[in-house]
Amino acid sequence: MRTPAADRGRHRVLVVEDDDTIGRHLQTGLRSNDYTATWSRTGTAALTEASLTPYDVLLLDLGLPDMDGLAIARTLRTRHPDLLIIILTARTDDIDVVAGLDAGADDYLVKPFSLTVLLARLRAHLRRRTATSPLQDPIHLADLVLDTAARRCLLHNEELHLRPKEFDLLTVLAQHTGEAVPRETLMSEVWDENWFGSTKTLDVTMAALRRRLAEAAAASPRPARLPRITTLRGHGYRLEY
Ligand code: CA
Repeated sequence: MRTPAADRGRHRVLVVEDDDTIGRHLQTGLRSNDYTATWSRTGTAALTEASLTPYDVLLLDLGLPDMDGLAIARTLRTRHPDLLIIILTARTDDIDVVAGLDAGADDYLVKPFSLTVLLARLRAHLRRRTATSPLQDPIHLADLVLDTAARRCLLHNEELHLRPKEFDLLTVLAQHTGEAVPRETLMSEVWDENWFGSTKTLDVTMAALRRRLAEAAAASPRPARLPRITTLRGHGYRLEY
């Protein structure tokens, strides 16, 4: 077993931030907490850096001098499906948060935020990401097969390319098939055990997951039976098939 400190030491973080004070603060703070941190001040520099070195985490400011942060999130999400993307934004408009999550970000923090909160979020995300269960059998949900060990989702042997959080969300619901799963359980299991505040990220990810399932069914050459995810107003969701 690796120690938590050694485990954290393996994680490479790319900070994309044009503000000198925040960028330096993040880089120093991450390094003193056993992360490897590289700091890019522009979107162009970040894209170049990400193409040279494999990163585990992207901390992404949305307001950059040369590019829109959302375009960077979209590009890197496509190139690196397993990259953990956390948006750092001074924008408090809901629409920006939704756009960020839709562009492929896993989470967001609204500035100003404390380093302690950022580190807690990182730990929770990374712990969940490495906590795989290699001996788990694939879960069959009607015509959908969820192979949690391989992190693959198949419909008639065609792979659905789910984003990490969409996959995790489907997995938690599948592990409770037929049961009502409260929103709080989904937030703590899929996002952060210490989550607080908005659950908008859950709604956005759920909408994206439903869209992907519907698209896969529509694109399937054979009739496809998919699990249904029912919204339980004021409570949560239930998956059944
Ligand atoms: Ca900025």
